[in-house]
Amino acid sequence: MPTESTFLLAGLFLLLAAAGWAMGRFGERDVEDAPPPLNIDYLKGLNFLLNEQTDQALEHFLKMVRVDDKTIETHFALGSLFRRRGEVDRAIRIHQNIIARPDLASEQRDQALYSLAKDYLAAGLLDRAEKLFSRLAAGSRYQVQALGALCGIYEQEREWGKAIDAGKRLEILGGRSLALQIAHYYCELAESAADAGDFAAARQYVKNAQTGRPRTMRGALTRAHIARDTDDSRTALRLYHRIIDEDTYLIAEALPEIVTIYTRENEVDELERALEALLEKNPDTASLVAYTAIVNDIGGIPVIDECVRRYMLNEPTLGEFVDLQRLSEAKDEGDTAFAKVRGALSKLAAATPRYQCQECGFSSQRLLWQCPSCRDWETQRPASRVQFDTVLQHSITR
Ligand SMILES: [Zn+2]
Repeated sequence: MPTESTFLLAGLFLLLAAAGWAMGRFGERDVEDAPPPLNIDYLKGLNFLLNEQTDQALEHFLKMVRVDDKTIETHFALGSLFRRRGEVDRAIRIHQNIIARPDLASEQRDQALYSLAKDYLAAGLLDRAEKLFSRLAAGSRYQVQALGALCGIYEQEREWGKAIDAGKRLEILGGRSLALQIAHYYCELAESAADAGDFAAARQYVKNAQTGRPRTMRGALTRAHIARDTDDSRTALRLYHRIIDEDTYLIAEALPEIVTIYTRENEVDELERALEALLEKNPDTASLVAYTAIVNDIGGIPVIDECVRRYMLNEPTLGEFVDLQRLSEAKDEGDTAFAKVRGALSKLAAATPRYQCQECGFSSQRLLWQCPSCRDWETQRPASRVQFDTVLQHSITR
C-alpha cells in the first residue's frame, strides 16, 4: 500500500510536471504551437513511486530535471521530505545534486549546504555536519541556525570549549541569553578538571559558570564537591547548605554529602539543628528528605528517621498492604516491622527511576543535567516518593 508520504512525493512530481508543462507551454515554445503532451518521464516517475520503487523514481527524477529557478524549491521540498521520512541517503543525493550545479546563486548554494548539513546530522555524520555548519556560521543567512546546530553537535561530542565559543557567538547574533546553557558547559569543564585532579582549573571554570544570569546551582554543587575532595569540610558544608536553601530539590544530591561530613566530624547535633531549621522553613521538603534517606540508606539520625516514619504512615499505596498505624502503636515489634518495610521500600526505590524531566518526562536513576531526550538543561527533578505505579507496571509487563 502506498504510504501518505508516497502520495506527497507523487504530488511533488506532479508539481514538477506542471512546472515543466508550463515552461514548455509559455516559455520556450512559440505561442502558435500546440500545448506539449504530458511528459512521459513524469508518468514513469510517478509509476515508480506508486509501486513503492522509490530508488528508481529518485534516479529518474535526478536525471530528468534540470535544477533551475523554477524547479529548485521542489528539489528542496523533496529532499526535506526524504529526510523527514528517515531516508537520509536519498536526501543527501538530492542536496548534493543541487550543490553540484555550477550556475547556482550563492543564496541557493547556502540553502543547499544548510539542507545537506541537516541531512548529515540526521544520519549521525557529525564531522561532516560540523564542517558545513561551521562554514555557514562564518557568514551566511543561516548563521544563527548553524550556530545553534553547532552547539548541539559539540554537546554530543562533549567538546565544551567549542560549545562555549559557539554559544557566545549565538548570544550576540541571535539576540537572546544562553547564560544557563553556557554555565553548564563551564560546569562540564569544571567536573572533568576535578576528575583529573586539576582543582585549580576546576575552580576557575566554576567561577566562569557563576558569572552569568540566570545562574545554576550546579556551579555551587561542583565547588562543594571540590571542597569535599580537598578535605575542606567547612567550605563544603557551607556550600551544601546554601544549595539546599536556594534550590530545595537538590536535597536529593546534597543531603547524603552533608550527613557523611557531619557524621565523620562527630557533629550530628549540629546536623539535627540545621535540618530542623530547614524543615521549619520548608515543611514540604520533608518527603524529599525521607525519600532521599530511604534511597541512600541514611538512618540513626532522629530528625531524618522521624521524616521517614511520617512518610511511611502517610503513603497511601503502602497503607493498602500493611497497617503501619496499628504497628506504630506496638513498641519493639512495631519498630522491627517498620525497619522491614523501610528496607523493602529502599529496594523498590532502587528499582525505579529517581529523576524525571519536567519537559519531556524522560526518567533516570541519577541526576542528568542535560536531558538525553529533549536536550534541555536542568529540567530534571527528583521524585519525592516511591513510584509504586512504575513498579507495578514493570512487574505486570515483565
Ligand atoms: Zn527532557
